[in-house]
Amino acid sequence: MLRRTDPSVARGLEHPADGETLRVLGLFPFGRRLPCDIYWHGVSFHDNNIFSGQVNKFPGMMETVRKITLSRAMRTMQDLFPLEYNFYPRSWILPEELPLFVAEVRMMKDRNPSWKPTFIVKPDGGCQGDGIYLIKDPSDIRLTGSIQSRPAVVQEYICKPLLVDKLKFDIRLYVLLKSLEPLEIYIAKDGLSRFCTEPYQEPTLKNLHQVFMHLTNYSLNIHSGNFIHSASVNTGSKRTFSSILCRLSSRGADVKKLWSDIISLVIKTIIALTPELKVYYQSDIPAGKPGPTCFQILGFDILLMKNLKPILLEVNANPSMRIEHEQELSPGVFENVPSPVDEEVKVAVIRDTLRLVDPQKKKRKDTQCQSLEQAPEASEELPEAALPSLCLKQVFPKYAKQFSYLRLVDRVAALFIRFLGVKGTTKLGPTGFRTFIRNCKLSNSNFSMAAVDILYIDITRRWNSMGIDHKESGNPGMCLQAFVEAFFCLAQKKYKSLPLHDQVASLIELCECRLAALRGKRLCTSCDKLCIHPECVEEKDQTTGDDNQHHGIGYTD
Ligand code: ADP
Repeated sequence: MLRRTDPSVARGLEHPADGETLRVLGLFPFGRRLPCDIYWHGVSFHDNNIFSGQVNKFPGMMETVRKITLSRAMRTMQDLFPLEYNFYPRSWILPEELPLFVAEVRMMKDRNPSWKPTFIVKPDGGCQGDGIYLIKDPSDIRLTGSIQSRPAVVQEYICKPLLVDKLKFDIRLYVLLKSLEPLEIYIAKDGLSRFCTEPYQEPTLKNLHQVFMHLTNYSLNIHSGNFIHSASVNTGSKRTFSSILCRLSSRGADVKKLWSDIISLVIKTIIALTPELKVYYQSDIPAGKPGPTCFQILGFDILLMKNLKPILLEVNANPSMRIEHEQELSPGVFENVPSPVDEEVKVAVIRDTLRLVDPQKKKRKDTQCQSLEQAPEASEELPEAALPSLCLKQVFPKYAKQFSYLRLVDRVAALFIRFLGVKGTTKLGPTGFRTFIRNCKLSNSNFSMAAVDILYIDITRRWNSMGIDHKESGNPGMCLQAFVEAFFCLAQKKYKSLPLHDQVASLIELCECRLAALRGKRLCTSCDKLCIHPECVEEKDQTTGDDNQHHGIGYTD
């Protein structure tokens, strides 16, 4: 049974192909009252009365992909892995980083006087190009005038995008996050290419304000007289991505490499988002209690540079699934008209999402096993054979080996969650932080518990004063991002001479090892050789056992 509260998807699902999909999958659209197998929500996870089944939204996804939160998460990854994360434009968060923005731009200009950058200012929480503008210099009046009232991200503008028919365009790719733990990611084989409606020119003071030249948003360009509703998938202002790939391939471009770069951009971006998502998840769906599982279709907006390097613009938690557009028949009279390009791409995404999360699949598999034992030939009549081949391709865990080393912040988040204590919270209290320090034995004569408290207060106060739109804005505790900052601080203190990545990796290993040893000791008091980390072994030889200072894990503030 399927419960839908998202009208656009409801329309998508009423498409004849999907009516058939639902029937073949054995799903029946259902009312609001009884428990369902799949809950299809319009905007967010929230519904307090779901204790089983699957919900098509993750708790906290909307908050996690907001422009400021995404930029912070990407910055953390760029600090740790600068080369791997160079697909996200250099960004600053306003108003708090305005002085840093001014100083860094000045420094880069001093170093390279021929550098003539352009920046794009995007209000936090904005969408469809709302409130976005370009500037040439941090001293631009508009910037200093507006940012105090509306937090924003200012980002390096990609001046040399790939053009098709002299027009700038971006790509909307659909990605299914099927599960967070274990991480499972699927990418749709085709996407949309959304075109500007004025021929592109590199930004100058004269053309900075021409949104139809610089911004690819459909919602903006549809108001241009030049907008062409596409009658087929390879013409007009919205085309399929595959039609662009065909064109590039015929010009000799390495389309395989482009796809592999896009897949790696998607996996790396989701790896950057998972720590925050896991904190929200454990808060809304506590382990060990009855609750649903989640999956979500995300919209990735990607720009291709002239040299075909993909650049991440943003991640959309609620990508439009409309398969029709409005047409003005006569002044003020509108009609919904089918859009072949949207239909081609989106129907397949929804159909395959339902196939992949299909609650009947397991039941059918079980039945198949039984029937195989009884009558082997019966298995050939699987109803799914009636559907087209999957457009969603699994990329994780398929390529997990190549990317697992990037999951450092995930491990920091696991430490954070372990010490949160109070079920349902997303913020760490001072006692939880102290317990973390004690259990991991991170304080010593050079770093006293008083210094630990000061570190906690300094970082937490700063993060809470930023006015971040957080689930628990009123809670004075430490959010994950603040904990990550504190963790990096501790790592830098402890392993001064190493590069940041090695500092953080070393501290994570040390903490994990000490916690494992502590757990081992609790289970079996005679086991004191459980921790094999070199530093722990060394300490064990020196100490007489200071276990008196160990407090219980999961201490409640
Ligand atoms: P919104 O959520 O309002 O659509 P986006 O981040 O997607 O905000 O930006 C809107 C449009 O601006 C994009 O579709 C793209 O055409 C353009 N754009 C955004 N960031 C950049 C950038 N760094 N360089 C070049 N163009 C950009």
